[in-house]
Amino acid sequence: MTDFQLKDLASSCLKKIRYSTEQTALEAINRVHKKRKTDLRIYFCKHCLGYHLTHKINKQRSKTVKREVLK
Ligand SMILES: [Zn+2]
Repeated sequence: MTDFQLKDLASSCLKKIRYSTEQTALEAINRVHKKRKTDLRIYFCKHCLGYHLTHKINKQRSKTVKREVLK
């Protein structure tokens, strides 16, 4: 990972809500999905060692996406 990517990750990290466990992140996804019909996914953040939500990329299934919530 380059310095630029690390800085980018850190800045997006600061702006995002951090979930300490995967379970709380999943619950947040379900809430958002019910309210806004938005599909989100969870990713683990190495910067804060927590979980964040990000918008699902619909173009093609990425092999790097390990966890998806299908509801
Ligand atoms: Zn983070």
